[in-house]
Amino acid sequence: MRQWFYLLVLVMGFVCIPTLKVNGEVIVQPKIVQAAEGVFSKETLSQVFVGSGLLKTAPHIMDMIKPLIKGLHGEKSSNIPETLPELPYLLIGLPSEHLALMQLKGDGRFKLPSSGLGKEGYLLDITPQHIHLTADSPEGIFYGVLYLIQRLESEAAKTGIPCGKIADWATLRWRGVHILFNGRQDVPQIERLLTEFMPRLRLNQLIIEINYFFDYKSHPEVAAQNPLTRVDCQHLRELAQKNFIRIIPMLNCMGHQSWAKTTMSLLTTHPEFDETPNAPKDNTGLYCRSWCPSHPSISKFVSDLCDELIDAFHAGAFHVGMDEVFLIGKCPRCKGKDPADLFAKAVNDLHKHLVGKRKVEMYLWGDRLLDGVGMKLGEWEASTNGTAPAIDKIAKDIVICDWHYELPDDFPSIAHLQQHGFRVIPSGWNLKESVKRFLGVGLKLQGAKLPGYLATTWTSAGGVVEGLLGVKAAREEGEKENKNADLPGAIRLGAKMAWEGR
Ligand SMILES: [Zn+2]
Repeated sequence: MRQWFYLLVLVMGFVCIPTLKVNGEVIVQPKIVQAAEGVFSKETLSQVFVGSGLLKTAPHIMDMIKPLIKGLHGEKSSNIPETLPELPYLLIGLPSEHLALMQLKGDGRFKLPSSGLGKEGYLLDITPQHIHLTADSPEGIFYGVLYLIQRLESEAAKTGIPCGKIADWATLRWRGVHILFNGRQDVPQIERLLTEFMPRLRLNQLIIEINYFFDYKSHPEVAAQNPLTRVDCQHLRELAQKNFIRIIPMLNCMGHQSWAKTTMSLLTTHPEFDETPNAPKDNTGLYCRSWCPSHPSISKFVSDLCDELIDAFHAGAFHVGMDEVFLIGKCPRCKGKDPADLFAKAVNDLHKHLVGKRKVEMYLWGDRLLDGVGMKLGEWEASTNGTAPAIDKIAKDIVICDWHYELPDDFPSIAHLQQHGFRVIPSGWNLKESVKRFLGVGLKLQGAKLPGYLATTWTSAGGVVEGLLGVKAAREEGEKENKNADLPGAIRLGAKMAWEGR
């Protein structure tokens, strides 16, 4: 079998590894480390080989390893070395691409899970003479390269990386972050999240709450100023793909149609959808306006908007929001109806379109499905306005983002939602201790009904980036509400726990 490798010859060694440093960046602890004698010194690396099959399916892997080969003057070669060289080298490829990689995969001393490494798992063999990296898929190679880059950049690597064999894989396959979108000016910061920050935190799902900041064509009157364009979406989609990240667009449905004195464009342009059309225009006395789930035209109208976001991102999943719906059953059409029935109808109308017609996964905030009184939860993170029985009236294939930000000893909502048949994504915010306890409970219930963890941020991509960079202003913003708030710290902790499973 003919294989092709890129051969890159050392001139300057590893002296030019760029410092894409993220303050306090987390390097995950691999699940299996079989330590051996000696170290691999990055100063001695002389050649890098990358499997051609890997490059064919994921050509951007070469971009990925640029930090490793920067400074090496390379020449492409079709010659596979008969035997691998004596000089310290790096070999990256799928198991089928070299006998040494096949042997690494077949090493029976690794106690892998029965399901194997999974799509994101990888194996490393580090000796003073070589580093072999293999995985069952390009994603696994991607995470293995990330691990290597982070190890080589770390302070501890100055004297070399300790030798040994390493196996690592993701505990939770779904590891996400949710951001707000406030207009096109946010795009460069989303690029940074996708290319610099999320990969290094092992995050693979980005929920962008776009709402009306999109260049809608079906109902152009609802497009907010400075909206996201289709070209932007294509660009972000391509960046996401290269970094094995899925973008999940979000339109907050039903509730949250206003914030403070500002009413969102749907209800300013279509007051006929307003659940409380006679409420004060400046929203005095209201938390957030809602749209009326009983209006005969609302379902089709919103489906049109969802379709445009799904098409622009080629999205395989969609988040409909629907948290904190307080105004329900107020208008003449809805009055007298059971709030749970009204809420369930709104959810199921969306489900019929998103899952039934568009075949995308549907995500929903969980608070309206939880009984705040029975579960002793507040009226924000759970419902005290009669919507909780909707838990038995909506489709079970909806993924519930169960958000809690406080510090209870237990988080019974996860098991409760699972017992009602849902997949649950625990969703934390800006208190590290809360994330630790919440995800601690979640990890005990992991499995098909608990596929992941979501870091909510309630800020824009720029806010998240500044926070992760340690820019003080961003930190102070988060600390206004609670002196213990540490959004970047909480994001890192959640991401680390979700990958490591501990
Ligand atoms: Zn109504």
